[in-house]
Amino acid sequence: SFVPPRVEGRTRLGVMGGTFDPIHHGHLVAASEVAALLDLDEVVFVPTGQPWQKSGKRRVSDAEHRYLMTVIATASNPRFTVSRVDIDRGGATYTIDTLTDLHRQRPNSDLFFITGADAMNQLMTWKDSEKLWDLAYFVGVTRPGHVLEDPNAESGRYSLMEVPAMAISSTDIRQRAAEKKPVWYLVPDGVVQYINKYALYSREDSQSFTEQ
Ligand code: ATP
Ligand code: MG
Repeated sequence: SFVPPRVEGRTRLGVMGGTFDPIHHGHLVAASEVAALLDLDEVVFVPTGQPWQKSGKRRVSDAEHRYLMTVIATASNPRFTVSRVDIDRGGATYTIDTLTDLHRQRPNSDLFFITGADAMNQLMTWKDSEKLWDLAYFVGVTRPGHVLEDPNAESGRYSLMEVPAMAISSTDIRQRAAEKKPVWYLVPDGVVQYINKYALYSREDSQSFTEQ
Protein backbone atom coordinates (compact mmCIF):
# COMPACT_ATOMS: atom_id res chain seq x y z
CA SER A 1 0.00 0.00 0.00
CA PHE A 2 0.93 3.65 -0.33
CA VAL A 3 3.47 4.88 2.23
CA PRO A 4 3.79 8.65 2.69
CA PRO A 5 7.04 9.78 1.04
CA ARG A 6 9.62 11.94 2.78
CA VAL A 7 8.68 15.62 2.67
CA GLU A 8 11.42 18.24 2.76
CA GLY A 9 11.56 19.98 6.14
CA ARG A 10 9.32 17.46 7.90
CA THR A 11 10.44 14.88 10.44
CA ARG A 12 9.27 11.29 10.10
CA LEU A 13 8.30 10.30 13.61
CA GLY A 14 7.40 6.74 14.59
CA VAL A 15 5.12 6.38 17.62
CA MET A 16 5.22 3.18 19.65
CA GLY A 17 2.53 3.13 22.33
CA GLY A 18 2.36 0.43 24.96
CA THR A 19 1.91 -0.48 28.58
CA PHE A 20 5.59 -1.52 28.63
CA ASP A 21 5.14 -3.53 31.83
CA PRO A 22 7.93 -4.31 31.13
CA ILE A 23 9.34 -3.19 27.74
CA HIS A 24 10.96 -6.16 25.93
CA HIS A 25 12.90 -7.04 22.79
CA GLY A 26 9.69 -7.60 20.80
CA HIS A 27 8.89 -3.88 21.15
CA LEU A 28 12.45 -2.83 20.35
CA VAL A 29 12.84 -5.03 17.28
CA ALA A 30 9.48 -3.87 15.89
CA ALA A 31 10.42 -0.20 16.32
CA SER A 32 13.89 -0.69 14.86
CA GLU A 33 12.65 -2.63 11.84
CA VAL A 34 9.85 -0.19 10.98
CA ALA A 35 12.24 2.74 11.41
CA ALA A 36 14.56 1.18 8.84
CA LEU A 37 11.81 0.13 6.42
CA LEU A 38 10.06 3.53 6.47
CA ASP A 39 13.14 5.73 6.83
CA LEU A 40 11.94 7.21 10.13
CA ASP A 41 14.08 9.89 11.79
CA GLU A 42 12.98 8.98 15.31
CA VAL A 43 10.74 6.57 17.16
CA VAL A 44 9.11 7.87 20.33
CA PHE A 45 7.99 5.26 22.86
CA VAL A 46 4.89 6.33 24.77
CA PRO A 47 4.08 4.41 27.96
CA THR A 48 0.36 4.47 28.76
CA GLY A 49 -1.39 5.90 31.76
CA GLN A 50 -3.67 3.45 33.57
CA PRO A 51 -4.99 1.46 30.58
CA TRP A 52 -8.74 0.82 30.55
CA GLN A 53 -8.33 -2.42 28.54
CA LYS A 54 -6.61 -3.92 31.52
CA SER A 55 -8.48 -2.45 34.46
CA GLY A 56 -10.13 -5.19 36.45
CA LYS A 57 -7.75 -7.76 35.07
CA ARG A 58 -4.61 -6.90 37.02
CA ARG A 59 -2.80 -4.02 38.59
CA VAL A 60 -0.48 -2.35 36.10
CA SER A 61 2.90 -1.35 37.55
CA ASP A 62 3.39 2.29 38.54
CA ALA A 63 3.77 4.60 35.57
CA GLU A 64 7.15 5.81 36.85
CA HIS A 65 8.55 2.27 36.86
CA ARG A 66 7.25 1.63 33.34
CA TYR A 67 8.59 4.99 32.17
CA LEU A 68 12.06 4.40 33.63
CA MET A 69 12.32 0.87 32.19
CA THR A 70 11.42 2.34 28.79
CA VAL A 71 14.13 4.99 29.16
CA ILE A 72 16.70 2.36 30.20
CA ALA A 73 15.80 0.12 27.24
CA THR A 74 15.95 2.88 24.62
CA ALA A 75 18.72 5.16 25.92
CA SER A 76 21.52 3.69 23.79
CA ASN A 77 19.69 4.15 20.48
CA PRO A 78 20.20 7.69 19.12
CA ARG A 79 16.87 7.51 17.23
CA PHE A 80 14.76 6.27 20.15
CA THR A 81 13.12 8.66 22.62
CA VAL A 82 10.44 8.36 25.31
CA SER A 83 7.43 10.63 25.84
CA ARG A 84 5.59 11.17 29.11
CA VAL A 85 2.53 12.56 27.35
CA ASP A 86 0.14 9.74 28.30
CA ILE A 87 1.54 9.36 31.81
CA ASP A 88 1.28 13.08 32.54
CA ARG A 89 -2.26 13.35 31.11
CA GLY A 90 -3.29 10.72 33.65
CA GLY A 91 -6.17 8.28 33.55
CA ALA A 92 -6.92 5.86 30.76
CA THR A 93 -4.97 6.28 27.54
CA TYR A 94 -6.79 6.64 24.24
CA THR A 95 -4.69 6.56 21.10
CA ILE A 96 -6.63 9.54 19.76
CA ASP A 97 -5.35 11.66 22.69
CA THR A 98 -1.77 10.41 22.31
CA LEU A 99 -1.71 11.37 18.65
CA THR A 100 -3.49 14.69 19.17
CA ASP A 101 -1.01 15.73 21.86
CA LEU A 102 2.03 14.61 19.87
CA HIS A 103 0.75 16.58 16.88
CA ARG A 104 0.52 19.69 19.02
CA GLN A 105 4.00 19.14 20.45
CA ARG A 106 5.62 18.22 17.14
CA PRO A 107 3.86 20.23 14.42
CA ASN A 108 6.70 19.61 11.96
CA SER A 109 6.45 15.83 12.20
CA ASP A 110 4.50 13.27 10.23
CA LEU A 111 3.39 10.53 12.62
CA PHE A 112 3.65 6.80 11.94
CA PHE A 113 1.85 4.81 14.62
CA ILE A 114 3.42 1.38 15.07
CA THR A 115 1.32 -1.41 16.50
CA GLY A 116 1.51 -5.18 16.79
CA ALA A 117 -1.01 -7.48 15.13
CA ASP A 118 -3.14 -7.88 18.27
CA ALA A 119 -3.37 -4.16 19.03
CA MET A 120 -3.92 -3.25 15.36
CA ASN A 121 -6.95 -5.51 15.17
CA GLN A 122 -8.39 -3.88 18.32
CA LEU A 123 -7.57 -0.35 17.22
CA MET A 124 -9.62 -0.59 14.06
CA THR A 125 -12.75 -1.53 15.99
CA TRP A 126 -12.62 1.58 18.16
CA LYS A 127 -15.23 4.24 17.72
CA ASP A 128 -12.72 7.00 16.98
CA SER A 129 -10.92 5.00 14.30
CA GLU A 130 -12.11 7.37 11.55
CA LYS A 131 -10.36 10.34 13.17
CA LEU A 132 -7.23 8.31 13.79
CA TRP A 133 -6.46 8.09 10.07
CA ASP A 134 -6.09 11.88 9.87
CA LEU A 135 -3.61 12.04 12.72
CA ALA A 136 -1.17 9.33 11.70
CA TYR A 137 -0.21 6.70 9.20
CA PHE A 138 -0.66 3.26 10.78
CA VAL A 139 1.83 0.44 10.58
CA GLY A 140 0.67 -2.98 11.72
CA VAL A 141 3.53 -5.41 12.39
CA THR A 142 3.51 -9.18 12.59
CA ARG A 143 3.54 -10.81 16.02
CA PRO A 144 3.87 -14.54 16.71
CA GLY A 145 0.56 -16.06 17.87
CA HIS A 146 -1.59 -13.32 16.33
CA VAL A 147 -3.08 -13.05 12.87
CA LEU A 148 -2.51 -9.66 11.29
CA GLU A 149 -5.90 -8.84 9.78
CA ASP A 150 -6.18 -6.38 6.95
CA PRO A 151 -8.20 -3.52 8.44
CA ASN A 152 -9.64 -2.95 4.97
CA ALA A 153 -10.46 0.63 5.81
CA GLU A 154 -11.39 3.00 3.03
CA SER A 155 -8.76 5.61 3.76
CA GLY A 156 -5.93 3.12 3.28
CA ARG A 157 -3.64 5.10 5.53
CA TYR A 158 -1.95 2.01 6.89
CA SER A 159 0.37 -0.76 5.90
CA LEU A 160 1.18 -4.20 7.23
CA MET A 161 4.82 -5.16 7.73
CA GLU A 162 6.70 -8.27 8.59
CA VAL A 163 9.23 -7.84 11.41
CA PRO A 164 11.59 -10.45 12.91
CA ALA A 165 9.43 -12.85 14.94
CA MET A 166 9.93 -12.43 18.68
CA ALA A 167 7.65 -14.72 20.68
CA ILE A 168 7.85 -12.47 23.75
CA SER A 169 5.10 -10.78 25.74
CA SER A 170 5.15 -8.67 28.88
CA THR A 171 2.57 -11.04 30.36
CA ASP A 172 4.99 -13.95 29.94
CA ILE A 173 7.87 -11.95 31.41
CA ARG A 174 5.81 -11.00 34.50
CA GLN A 175 4.81 -14.61 34.94
CA ARG A 176 8.39 -15.80 34.59
CA ALA A 177 9.64 -13.22 37.09
CA ALA A 178 6.91 -14.23 39.56
CA GLU A 179 8.00 -17.87 39.18
CA LYS A 180 11.67 -16.89 39.52
CA LYS A 181 12.46 -18.12 36.01
CA PRO A 182 15.11 -16.18 34.07
CA VAL A 183 14.09 -13.18 31.96
CA TRP A 184 17.61 -12.50 30.68
CA TYR A 185 17.74 -11.94 26.90
CA LEU A 186 13.97 -11.36 26.71
CA VAL A 187 14.43 -7.78 27.92
CA PRO A 188 17.55 -5.54 27.89
CA ASP A 189 20.03 -6.26 30.72
CA GLY A 190 19.28 -2.98 32.46
CA VAL A 191 15.58 -3.88 32.56
CA VAL A 192 16.34 -7.28 34.14
CA GLN A 193 18.31 -5.45 36.81
CA TYR A 194 15.57 -2.85 37.30
CA ILE A 195 12.92 -5.58 37.74
CA ASN A 196 15.11 -7.27 40.36
CA LYS A 197 15.99 -4.02 42.12
CA TYR A 198 12.32 -3.18 42.79
CA ALA A 199 11.05 -6.80 42.89
CA LEU A 200 8.44 -5.63 40.38
CA TYR A 201 6.72 -8.90 39.56
CA SER A 202 7.63 -10.99 42.56
CA ARG A 203 4.22 -11.12 44.21
CA GLU A 204 2.97 -14.55 45.23
CA ASP A 205 -0.46 -14.31 43.58
CA SER A 206 0.80 -15.21 40.13
CA GLN A 207 -2.83 -15.55 38.98
CA SER A 208 -2.97 -11.77 38.75
CA PHE A 209 -0.19 -11.93 36.17
CA THR A 210 -2.20 -13.96 33.71
CA GLU A 211 -4.13 -12.15 31.03
CA GLN A 212 -5.06 -12.32 27.37
P1 ATP B 1 1.00 -7.48 27.68
O1 ATP B 1 1.25 -8.95 27.61
O2 ATP B 1 1.04 -6.88 29.04
O3 ATP B 1 -0.21 -7.04 26.88
P2 ATP B 1 2.70 -6.89 25.42
O4 ATP B 1 3.88 -7.77 25.31
O5 ATP B 1 1.51 -7.18 24.55
O6 ATP B 1 2.26 -6.80 26.96
P3 ATP B 1 2.23 -4.08 25.13
O7 ATP B 1 2.87 -3.04 25.95
O8 ATP B 1 0.83 -4.48 25.37
O9 ATP B 1 3.18 -5.41 25.22
O10 ATP B 1 2.42 -3.78 23.58
C1 ATP B 1 2.74 -2.54 23.02
C2 ATP B 1 2.73 -2.68 21.52
O11 ATP B 1 3.80 -3.56 21.09
C3 ATP B 1 1.45 -3.30 20.94
O12 ATP B 1 1.17 -2.66 19.71
C4 ATP B 1 1.84 -4.73 20.73
O13 ATP B 1 1.04 -5.35 19.74
C5 ATP B 1 3.29 -4.62 20.30
N1 ATP B 1 4.07 -5.80 20.59
C6 ATP B 1 4.28 -6.33 21.82
N2 ATP B 1 5.06 -7.43 21.75
C7 ATP B 1 5.35 -7.62 20.44
C8 ATP B 1 6.11 -8.62 19.73
N3 ATP B 1 6.70 -9.64 20.38
N4 ATP B 1 6.20 -8.49 18.39
C9 ATP B 1 5.58 -7.48 17.75
N5 ATP B 1 4.85 -6.50 18.36
C10 ATP B 1 4.72 -6.57 19.70
MG1 MG C 1 -0.37 -6.30 24.89
